[in-house]
Amino acid sequence: MSDPLFKKVALIGIGLIGSSIAINLRDRKLADHVAIATRSLATLARAEALGLGDSFHADAAEAVRDADLVILSVPVGACGEIAKAIAPALKAGAIVSDVGSVKASVVEAMRPHLPSSVHFVPAHPIAGTEQSGPDAGFLELFENRWTILTPIEGTDPEATARLGRLWEATGARVETMTAEHHDLVLAIVSHVPHLIAYNIVGTAADLETVTRSEVIKFSASGFRDFTRIAASDPTMWRDIFLNNREAVLEMLARFSEDLASLQRAIRWGDGDALFDLFTRTRAIRRSIVEAGQDTEEANFGRQKVRKDPWNETHPEG
Ligand code: NAP
Repeated sequence: MSDPLFKKVALIGIGLIGSSIAINLRDRKLADHVAIATRSLATLARAEALGLGDSFHADAAEAVRDADLVILSVPVGACGEIAKAIAPALKAGAIVSDVGSVKASVVEAMRPHLPSSVHFVPAHPIAGTEQSGPDAGFLELFENRWTILTPIEGTDPEATARLGRLWEATGARVETMTAEHHDLVLAIVSHVPHLIAYNIVGTAADLETVTRSEVIKFSASGFRDFTRIAASDPTMWRDIFLNNREAVLEMLARFSEDLASLQRAIRWGDGDALFDLFTRTRAIRRSIVEAGQDTEEANFGRQKVRKDPWNETHPEG
């Protein structure tokens, strides 16, 4: 049997993403020892009961001692503080990474605290569900999904490649880009769509002319798919919008302009403009299916992980 990729991996944060990484490390035998740390004792006890690691720590600094890979899987707003707390305990030569949905602000928050003796390779697996916590993780979460690495200038390419091999071992495909470019791309493919979903579900909830029971009863006509996205974790998404402000505002400005032109087309009865756009957007959907990022099946082909039909896996931001 081949050697594991890492001797000791420390996972700080053990929610949906942390526990999915832990299950991959365990089931695919990618590390000799997995140390887990999280903020609350209740989550830590649950992670232990689920057998997600080999050692369990209330103190993140204790968990990272001697680790050759450390991965933070916490809300992006918490990354800076954790980097500060673990910095003195990091082993020279260790790789430090995260899974945050925003990259430039995480780099800004973590980098000043990290010693120059470690390799900092931020990452973002574009895979998720609306579920949170250590019970939500599963082995296949990253399979055939992209993980983006955003190494900073001057990072040892071997450290980036080694982290890439770990992500590939989970079934993910790996791409490298700058943190700034990542944030722009994710603003349009993930952050703005989530904001639109939060907004439309909020608008429906506040309507006075249509009752809430009507909204729920007739939701299969389109609204339901927005509610799935709008059920995503409030803390995580608050942090994403606060930390990717510029890129989201830039994409929202473009979106608003395009929405205004659709409004005008409807007002002026310009059916050709509507038809042209809807034809172009259909082609994008086809390209996503062809790229293996979704299927033609009903309900967008999302794999069901819970009995509740609204809780289905979906690529996340
Ligand atoms: P989660 O299931 O809610 O788990 C969050 C973990 O972070 C828990 O262990 C929690 O600890 C800990 N935590 C929460 N707030 C903290 C704080 N202020 N300080 C220290 N620890 C804190 O979250 P997740 O979905 O795994 O998301 C984690 C990260 O992955 C986020 O940065 C998110 O942007 C990114 N991400 C998420 C998805 C997705 O779809 N969910 C996809 C890709 C990337 P306790 O339970 O002990 O309090």
